[in-house]
Amino acid sequence: MLMCRWTVAAGWEAPRIEPFGNLSISPAASCLNYATQCFEGMKVYRGFDGKLRLFRPDHNAKRLISSAERVALPAFDDKELVKLIKALIRVDAPRWLPKEAAGRFLYIRPALVGTGEQTGVQLPEEAMLYVIMIPWPDFSTETSPRKTPRTPGLRLCASQGDTIRAWPGGFGYAKVGANYGTTFKAHGVAHSKGFDQILWLFGPDCQVTEAGASNFFAVVRDATTSKIELLTAPLTENLILDGVTRRSVLELVRSRLSEQLSIAERNFTMQELVQAWNEGRVLEAFVSGTAFFIMPVSLIHFRGLDLAMPDIHETEGKRYASIIKGWLRIFSILRLQASFEG
Ligand code: PMP
Repeated sequence: MLMCRWTVAAGWEAPRIEPFGNLSISPAASCLNYATQCFEGMKVYRGFDGKLRLFRPDHNAKRLISSAERVALPAFDDKELVKLIKALIRVDAPRWLPKEAAGRFLYIRPALVGTGEQTGVQLPEEAMLYVIMIPWPDFSTETSPRKTPRTPGLRLCASQGDTIRAWPGGFGYAKVGANYGTTFKAHGVAHSKGFDQILWLFGPDCQVTEAGASNFFAVVRDATTSKIELLTAPLTENLILDGVTRRSVLELVRSRLSEQLSIAERNFTMQELVQAWNEGRVLEAFVSGTAFFIMPVSLIHFRGLDLAMPDIHETEGKRYASIIKGWLRIFSILRLQASFEG
């Protein structure tokens, strides 16, 4: 693991790479008491050409700094952070991702936490940046965590008004732990009813924001123009995370699919989605994120209604989600991202 300590008096110390191990911090540490904590999630891939590649790590590094700022943690140079992550990968990734593991990846978790022993409600005076790497099971050869096989695609349960994930002036845009732990109870209830993720809604008009730890997209035919739109919530209100995969989906659609699909990055409501679904205009829905990559949605449950998406088996290969996924796979594993080996 990579570690780098900071104190308000001396700034950042020299970073170190050490064997993976537990951290030793005071029970009075700022992160444990006041959630002065933020993190990132990214992957390093072993390409089919045998090279290791990170997928757009500069965006994750910048997002970590922006999340840190939200919880009063010190800034770290984003370019230096990417260099450090690469140094860690050089040391430890080849052992977990040998050359023959083409197409596989490690999950990388950088985190920045307030470590100062501070029971007073005050700015963090000590912090630690660390980066760990987590081997990801190969589900083509190992057992999947899903116990019962069932139709592909995620089943989303739209949030009820009693739990709100993010609000204007809040921190929905930041990757801070406080955005996650506070949703686990609602997630557990949804999971016990057979749903995979919560589709978070905001406001009395039920604006659609994002789904679990991923951004949400719907492909909808416009009622008046008949044009096909890729609908997704905007970043402007700071309610959702600026997903690296979301950004890549939008850039890809703009550059390669703009003749078929126009992007509508705007607020939209559940009522709008229900109406489009009733009129047969919802062609597909999918989520994007580092963990799920691009994953089709099979159903959205909202106030007693089950909005079933067109059959994923029948539309496989024709769906925009699979076309976009195919392109992004090529970019992440094979091309465009410069390998940092050699
Ligand atoms: N929204 C939330 C709340 C998330 O936790 C994530 C995962 N980081 C995403 C969206 C997707 O972001 P990315 O594509 O950068 O993984």
